[in-house]
Amino acid sequence: MVKYKVLFTADLQNLTNLKPSYDPTFAYYFKMKCGNCGEPASNVISVHPNVKVDDSKNSPNLEMKCKFCERVGSVTVTPICGKPLTQALSVFRESAPLVQVDCKGFDPVEFVFRSSWKAKSIAGTKFEDIDLSDGDFDEYDEKGECPVSINNLGVTFEVMMSEMREKRLAWDKSMLERQRSHSARLKAWKKEHGRSSSYY
Ligand SMILES: [Zn+2]
Repeated sequence: MVKYKVLFTADLQNLTNLKPSYDPTFAYYFKMKCGNCGEPASNVISVHPNVKVDDSKNSPNLEMKCKFCERVGSVTVTPICGKPLTQALSVFRESAPLVQVDCKGFDPVEFVFRSSWKAKSIAGTKFEDIDLSDGDFDEYDEKGECPVSINNLGVTFEVMMSEMREKRLAWDKSMLERQRSHSARLKAWKKEHGRSSSYY
């Protein structure tokens, strides 16, 4: 399982706080490639954080099969809420976190922007259903008497710690603790029996 953090950036003109609507039906769209044979999936897949494959606790949001090598994989998304793309971030071309994607057997190659995004103008006008399917958005803010726009959308996939690495680190930590307690015991023993004493 590889975990990715998806971050996005955009140029915002007279707008701030760009984020998904987080409606119960909001979906995240990706293009994936098979982790086994490398074949890119031909379709854009939609992953709904509120839809699960089965009733189990760790059920993924989507199960998919590579059309080429038939390997079965899964995808789970966890939205990262509360950190929208602000005007300040946009000015410095800094990104905002969007969603965490846990992939098994597949790797994301592209995030696809669609509808149901939100932002507000610097004059306070709320734009509730922004469609970014075309890669940009242009409107006029009556209240602020200025044009508002979104363009230059960009996405990066940041690899988070893999499960294997997590296990490895946990194991290293337990070995270190064992070593520490052993040397502490040895130290205590030496203190009690004098430095020059032998073990026998
Ligand atoms: Zn494959």
